[in-house]
Order: sequence, then structure tokens, then C-alpha cells
Amino acid sequence: MAMLCSYQKMKFKVNNSSDFARQASLELQRGSIQTPAFMPVGTNGTVKGMSVDDLKETGSEIILGNTYHLMLRPGDENIKTLGGLHNFINWDRPILTDSGGFQVWSLGDLVKISEEGVKFSSPYDGKKIFMTPEDSIKIQENLGSDIVMMFDECTDYPTTYENAKSSMELSMRWAARCKKAHKTSSALFGIVQGGIYKDLRQESLNQLLEIGTDGVALGGLSVGESKQEKLEILDFMSDKLPTEMPRYLMGVGKPEDIVEAVRYGIDMFDCVLPTRNARNGQLFTSEGVLNIRNAPYKMSDDPIDANCKCKVCKNYSRAYINHLDRTNEMLGSMLSTYHNIYYYQSLMKDIRNSIKNNLFAKFLKDFYNRRNLDMPEGPT
Ligand SMILES: [Zn+2]
Repeated sequence: MAMLCSYQKMKFKVNNSSDFARQASLELQRGSIQTPAFMPVGTNGTVKGMSVDDLKETGSEIILGNTYHLMLRPGDENIKTLGGLHNFINWDRPILTDSGGFQVWSLGDLVKISEEGVKFSSPYDGKKIFMTPEDSIKIQENLGSDIVMMFDECTDYPTTYENAKSSMELSMRWAARCKKAHKTSSALFGIVQGGIYKDLRQESLNQLLEIGTDGVALGGLSVGESKQEKLEILDFMSDKLPTEMPRYLMGVGKPEDIVEAVRYGIDMFDCVLPTRNARNGQLFTSEGVLNIRNAPYKMSDDPIDANCKCKVCKNYSRAYINHLDRTNEMLGSMLSTYHNIYYYQSLMKDIRNSIKNNLFAKFLKDFYNRRNLDMPEGPT
């Protein structure tokens, strides 16, 4: 049954579902997106190697901007002066900005975390920076984000129950401060932490719903835990996440990880894999990953993927992409990135259509069969 839930700043409507998997529309201040959705990552205000026209051609409806990188260069105040991130990069569709928490966490020992916020040195000029949850919200609002993420501490993996608990509790106190600091008409998403501990995940979700959030993100996954541990958390959360708001699994992932998470009811994804791997010669296809650097492709007149309808597969051979890669030509990275993003967006479209048409079970069977993979058990 379709559900409609209106928020002051966004509208989310589930159109169809198949067990936990669902197809929904998310209306934001700069347009609507269809979910399950994949958000290409635009770290420095650009999805590497892709013009905005390219991105639109691939069917990308929303992209992700990195608060941490943009605040350091060229600076969020400068971007605000230049008309905001959308104007600066010439992208008129929705943008989700991360909070900077994950990047700061990635600095490891170089960052000092206190109740008030985080202290670290800029990797560019060594300048000491102190960032609070309030600063993170302010920066994202300066950028003009459509979906602002609450500032959190990503829990280490592996870690003890006690450490995961105190880390989660700090993130929840920060979440309450983010909620208070948030002033614009953007949507605000909270992030569930708690590591691999189910009761901590439940507690984190309860607190976020109490604080008030427009969407729920699952953070602190894909940080080193086993696939089984990740699936157990997804399985545990699948019937606890509110059905009337979007669910976002941060930093995921490979095509099979996305397909798997959709089965547990996840609506939104972001990952650097399609862009980063393209630059390393790894191309995603309907039959699995192809390494274009491999010798047999040197003389192959076939397209990257005979089932792909993108302009790269229509017009260029594996041999040509192999040649561009071997000669370090920038066009090689550009064409490979275009194909990979197109592949991801086509996959999302196929997922959405299959849910809409009540064919998701068949989609799953075909997806795993084509890759010669066993289909995992799915939600229990
Ligand atoms: Zn293609």
C-alpha cells in the first residue's frame, strides 16, 4: 500500500514494495528523486571525470558533496559568496552533503575528539581546525545542500561494546545539537551508529527519532566488519526503521552489496567505487567486473558490455579503452567513468522497475545467475 508522509522540507512517498524492498519518490527543494537511488560522489565539487551533462545523461538525479574537502578548498564561505554549491558547479538537481565526520574519523590519530567537537590539522597547509556539530551544519548550509547530514563520530571497527556505546552516545548528543543548529529549508538526516551491537543500534535509532529527523542513515558500516556482520545489522534494522522516511546506507558499495541492501529496505546509496575503480581499469558489467588492462582486451573489438546502452559501449571497443588506459590518456578515465556511472544508474533503474512491476524476485534471480553467484538468504 502506498504511504504518504509530508514533512515541512521534503516529501517521501512509497509507491510499491516487495517484502522489505521498496520503490519510492523523494521530493526535495530542488527536485524529485526516485529510489532506490545511487548518488555519485563529487568530492571536490566534481564527480571526477564527469561533466554535469554527462551525469544527467547517465540518469543521476542526486549527487553527494564532501563537506570536509569543500570547507578546506575552496572554503564554504567562498562557495556561498559565489552563489552556493549548485551555482558554483552548475548542477541544478539535489545535492546531499556528508557531515565531514567520516573524513575526520579517517584521519585516525591526527584528530582529537572531545565533547565539544573535533580538532585536526588541514592536510593542505597544516592549519589547526576545530569543528563542532554546529560548524558542520553551518558549512553544509553555506554550501546550500538539499540534504544535510548530522555530524557524527564513526565508530571504530573492531572495538569493545563499551567504546561503541560511548561513541554512539556522543554522536547522539551531537545529533541533538545539529537539530538545534539547523535553520534552512533543507532536509536533515540523522545517522544511526552503534557498531555491530544490535541493542546500541536500536538505542541510537530511538534517540534519533526522539530528536527528530527527516531521514535515517546507517553509518559505521563497510568500515572493516565482515559481510555477515553487516547483513546481521541490516536484517536487525529492516523491521525497525520507520517505513515513512528514507533510509540511506552510507558508503555502499559494490553492485551486489546494493542489491542485497535493497532487499532489507534501503533506499539510498553512495560510493566512490564506480568512479575510483574506473580510473584503475575496473569496469562494472552485467556479468561482473572486467579489468580492461588484461591482455586479451588489447585486440577486442567488443564493447565493454554488450548489454549496456551507454554512449561508450555504443561507440568504442574494449581495445580502444585498453589502449587509452595503457597510454595514460585522460579520455580513458573519462570514458570508463561514464560507463561505470551509467552501469550503476541502469542497475538502480532495473531495481526500481522490477519493484514497480512486482518482478523483484525475478530480478534477483537473474542478477545472481548472470554473475554465477549464489543468492544470499535475504531478510529473515
Ligand atoms: Zn556502457
